[in-house]
Amino acid sequence: MTERRKITVVGASLAGLRAVQSLRREGFDGEITVVGAETHTPYNRPPLSKSVLHGDDDVSLPGAEELSDDWLRGRRAVRLSPGEREVILDDGTRIHYDGLVVATGVRPRRLADHLEGVHTLRTIEDALALRGELEAGYERVVVVGGGFIGGEVATTARALGLKVTLIDAGRHPMRQSLGDEAARWLGGHHERHGVELISRARVSAVEGGDRVTGVRLDDGRSVPADLVVAGIGVVPNTEWLEGSGLAVDDGVLAEETLFARGTADIVAAGDVVRWPHALYDNTLVRVEHWGNANEQGAVAARNLLTGPEGATPYRGVPSYGTHVHGCRLQTAGLPYLADEVRVVAGAPQDDSFAVAFARNGVLVGAVAVNAPKELIRLKRAIIAKEALT
Ligand code: NAP
Repeated sequence: MTERRKITVVGASLAGLRAVQSLRREGFDGEITVVGAETHTPYNRPPLSKSVLHGDDDVSLPGAEELSDDWLRGRRAVRLSPGEREVILDDGTRIHYDGLVVATGVRPRRLADHLEGVHTLRTIEDALALRGELEAGYERVVVVGGGFIGGEVATTARALGLKVTLIDAGRHPMRQSLGDEAARWLGGHHERHGVELISRARVSAVEGGDRVTGVRLDDGRSVPADLVVAGIGVVPNTEWLEGSGLAVDDGVLAEETLFARGTADIVAAGDVVRWPHALYDNTLVRVEHWGNANEQGAVAARNLLTGPEGATPYRGVPSYGTHVHGCRLQTAGLPYLADEVRVVAGAPQDDSFAVAFARNGVLVGAVAVNAPKELIRLKRAIIAKEALT
């Protein structure tokens, strides 16, 4: 055990919360300071693009209410000084640490959201604003990006009876995450549920005066819109680390134990960390899913207490689930690494199937549509590094 008296956690969402809980569970009785840019206690983000849009405001995260530590809400870290072991906040406050957890997450990429009617979706405020507009009687919704946000928002908008156009840059939506077979199915699934799908197109501009009237595609076409929702990916919140000497490249670069590279007193967790995954020949990965933040916050904090010598590598298999027009879509592992892909159960035309992904004959990923048992089976096989047979 390393002797630490004061631990600072920067980022007060899921990974930060789990870090604090883990510190206390492991018996750390020193001081903990948590810095969070949002004004809320930590809340659950997955409902934001699902139930919250349907009117259910429950975003509670188990454990958030139990915390009595020093929470600094609505405050941003703007600089890190590892030499002095200090985090500097936007109001100039300097917070000392003996150990630091970086859990600053990501923020959405934005289209021209100075126009009324253009939305992104990351915070509870974003979700409530979008809900208000989905219910306001506008007819034509353009969803930009066919990823997680795009799929879930298109589902909600169609359920509300709105006219939805989904514009995505890829040949099929989520092709990178799902592979060709399942992504082709997903595109067809959107269309069968009344979504107008425009693939292989990027939105290059938003049109309108005060309020949006449409979007322009990079091939020159215009698509009319009363309401635009952009789900076009995210950017890691690492600007505050510039000049600190910490290695940053599409996230904080960390060891497999989640210690920031070359440090013994800083760990990183959640959407913001990029680490070498032992299950995948130490390929650097950054994972933007709930389960990853949930587990990594705890592991990173425990490792911080142990110190780099006795620390445990983080080997969690990336997994997520989403619902699109009534179908359950799940993945495990990293399908994009595969050189061999096979449908191993069911059939896409039945809206129920599973796809296995292998590299050099070894399972690396799985996708399941309405086949949760297959997903569990394949996930176990991925962890066991089984062959695709
Ligand atoms: P995403 O899943 O990365 O999808 C973004 C999609 O938008 C990509 O297909 C991208 O194509 C496309 N795109 C980017 N710029 C575009 C443009 N100008 N015009 C048209 N298409 C464009 O990102 P997201 O949907 O915004 O999700 C954001 C975050 O929320 C992620 O971290 C995700 O994990 C999280 N989330 C997760 C869940 C879940 O797990 N169920 C649900 C909701 C949100 P290219 O890749 O070719 O650029």
